[in-house]
Amino acid sequence: MAHQYSCSACEFQVRSENDDELIELVQHHAQEYHDMSPSAGDIRDGMKTV
Ligand SMILES: [Zn+2]
Repeated sequence: MAHQYSCSACEFQVRSENDDELIELVQHHAQEYHDMSPSAGDIRDGMKTV
């Protein structure tokens, strides 16, 4: 089962079957594009199962 995360600040969406990888990708995006550092917990809360 895969998880998907949609960025709250832009149209960015990412999907992965590996939660750790997904969190890493989202954190990288947030830092690069929005200068934000969401915690793994924040990202898990925002994940959808797809
Ligand atoms: Zn974004």
